Amino acid sequence: MKKVVIVGGVAGGASAAARLRRLDEEAQIVMLEKDSYISFANCGLPYHIGETIKDRDRLIVQTPSSMKERFNIDVRINSEVISVDTKNKVIEVNSKDRGIYKESYDKLILSPGARALKPSIVGIDSDKILTLRNIPDMDKIKAFVDSGSVKDAVVIGGGYVGVEMAENLKNRGLNVTLVEAAPHILAPFDTDMSVVVEKELYDNGVNLVLNDGVKAFEDNGDYVETLLASGNKLKSQLVILSIGVVPETSFLKNTGIELGKKGHIIVNDNMETNIEGIFAVGDAVEVVDFVNKNKTAIALAGPANKQGRIAADNICGIKSTFKGSEGTAIIKVFNVTAASTGNNERTLKRLGIPYKVVVVHPASHASYYPASHPVSIKLIFGDDGKIFGAQAVGYDGVDKRIDVIASTIRLNGTVYD
Ligand code: FAD
Repeated sequence: MKKVVIVGGVAGGASAAARLRRLDEEAQIVMLEKDSYISFANCGLPYHIGETIKDRDRLIVQTPSSMKERFNIDVRINSEVISVDTKNKVIEVNSKDRGIYKESYDKLILSPGARALKPSIVGIDSDKILTLRNIPDMDKIKAFVDSGSVKDAVVIGGGYVGVEMAENLKNRGLNVTLVEAAPHILAPFDTDMSVVVEKELYDNGVNLVLNDGVKAFEDNGDYVETLLASGNKLKSQLVILSIGVVPETSFLKNTGIELGKKGHIIVNDNMETNIEGIFAVGDAVEVVDFVNKNKTAIALAGPANKQGRIAADNICGIKSTFKGSEGTAIIKVFNVTAASTGNNERTLKRLGIPYKVVVVHPASHASYYPASHPVSIKLIFGDDGKIFGAQAVGYDGVDKRIDVIASTIRLNGTVYD
């Protein structure tokens, strides 16, 4: 009977565990999670704070006892893996209940994810500056807002999480300012598309500060002052820091497991690391960009789940491969939906890849039928017509357009297809 140990119990880790059990009824599967929750819906966290998802339990997909009952998986929460001895196939665990102990493995799957980036900016340790990654983070932010002591909130970073937090805090009746150091929000989109989302934020009362980074924070007791590079100052009782993530791989340093420049785990297309029998998946790994074939890192749940299943397949003798990420993603911002797939103009320019662009604004459905709205769709392709990427913004039908184009990219399709 083989023994598989999984580090990390959320997207990639839980998917790997469930797939392993489906493929092998006999295997001993141990899942170690350093926090107190497993298998929760990260993507829903901002919406519980905003009270669109009122019932907190809906975010918790599995619990340790349901994983035991349904899949016979030995889930240990509050158990942090602190080192890996790849020679002797043993990991060291720091458990809240059991103290430090060793656990052996035949195969190891690493899915430790990524934590919110918290650079060493003056004043960043104020207890009014919070990040959002997991259920305890969500509870903390929600309790702050529920207490009624917050009237103004500053969200730093206009990525997906920052924009979702700005909307949800606004929905809670706060005065919200979203600060982005780049000229525009939502980096996967080109400027001509992201401005539509910026207008939607603006129309819904979110104050946008673009092209201005944070220099320092100053906690004055009742409020924190965010000092910007321009010299402007923003007062708020709450700051959400969402300026990106870093892979949670410091426990792997000096283990012989190969890490990239930014700390991501290097894997092959079977999701196996340079050490035989050790697999890695999710936000913590470097992947291949499906379009330009360069190495990249894409922190999204879809690839994490898929990679978890691929690692499990390979452990059970099925030679599945991960063929790269397109980074297909979608966001709702008040009444607008924006979605993207593949490479944008900025990426192609940076890589010196020649491309052509077409932007069209068709109706979301037959315009003679009520409630049709224009959808702005941007398609980016090469000289031979090969599709590199697409972006769309609109009120309706955005997802289906981008899904079709994402599938066409995956099949190496052209504009003629
Ligand atoms: P995680 O799901 O983060 O799981 C890693 C787990 O490993 C963590 O629970 C961590 O505590 C644990 N861990 C780390 N180190 C150790 C250790 N040494 N020992 C034991 N346990 C350890 N993606 C989308 O595709 N769509 C969305 O709409 C979306 N929205 C998001 C909203 C928010 C607020 C956040 C934070 C993320 C969102 N994501 C979204 C990203 C998505 O959640 C991640 O890409 C996905 O969860 C990555 O899966 P993972 O298994 O790599 O990491």
